[in-house]
Amino acid sequence: MSGRFRRILIIADIEGSSGCWSYRGSSFMTTEWARTCLEMTRDVQAVVQALFECGIEYVRVKDFHRTGYNLLPELIDARAELIHGYRAGPVPGLGDPGPAEAVMFLGMHAASGTDGFLAHTLTSRIRQLEVNGNPLPEIQLFAASLASRGIKPIFFSGCPVACAQARTAIEHISVFPIDKFAGQERFDAIAWRTDLAQAAVTALNNKRTIPFKPQGPMRVKVRMQTGSTAARKIARRWGLVHQGDQIVIEANDIHDVYMHLIRICYLTPFIEKTLPLGLRLYNLWGRLGLAWVRRQQKRIEPN
Ligand SMILES: [Zn+2]
Repeated sequence: MSGRFRRILIIADIEGSSGCWSYRGSSFMTTEWARTCLEMTRDVQAVVQALFECGIEYVRVKDFHRTGYNLLPELIDARAELIHGYRAGPVPGLGDPGPAEAVMFLGMHAASGTDGFLAHTLTSRIRQLEVNGNPLPEIQLFAASLASRGIKPIFFSGCPVACAQARTAIEHISVFPIDKFAGQERFDAIAWRTDLAQAAVTALNNKRTIPFKPQGPMRVKVRMQTGSTAARKIARRWGLVHQGDQIVIEANDIHDVYMHLIRICYLTPFIEKTLPLGLRLYNLWGRLGLAWVRRQQKRIEPN
């Protein structure tokens, strides 16, 4: 038992979960999404249960897809603390990360502009994102935002491209891929989930990673899906430089990059000024969505 991490934060996304096989599976208020929420919940529960079974003392799960309301708490071990929705800070989106020593990333995807399954960074409206000439996967933003608390990124699961990007960014991180190449019909979700949980337990011994603190400065290039009109509008809104369909940002460090991207992807100056209210409304929207998922579930599996 000694030498293992004992307090774990799980960041859970949907695209790399075992239930997501199309964009609709990740899209709010579609019947595919309702089904995917159930499978994503089962993936997370398999990991949570395995972690508790091997004796760790604390698990916090942060639901990090879209509204942040995808996981069904009634299907997750009650000993885990499940956090829905978003908080402004101190860690963007997460609020307080709690007493975790290490973070595991489940259901993740590859960076915008790369060829992974449903690849994107923060939003599919970004077509391509480069930081100092390299694609920027979300794991870098999330892991860096936890680094000041000393939280070490130890485990990552997502498509093979996403896993490769995680390993490039974070030396020695343990990865467990989900390969969707052969299609859903040939995929054994139960077997995969069992192996995922086992891999997560093994990663509790991964003491080789360190908190992720990449060095600045960073030159960021953001290409929007909708082209130069969108880039111009966003650049003007935030006082940034744009060249054609590309927004160019000179950032001091990765936290600066993250804040710029949050603004570009989710905010306007007005929403930023009224953020507590905006977040309350957004979280209410998420709760309504999850209530709808439950009603769909009763239709799919009446008992
Ligand atoms: Zn997602």
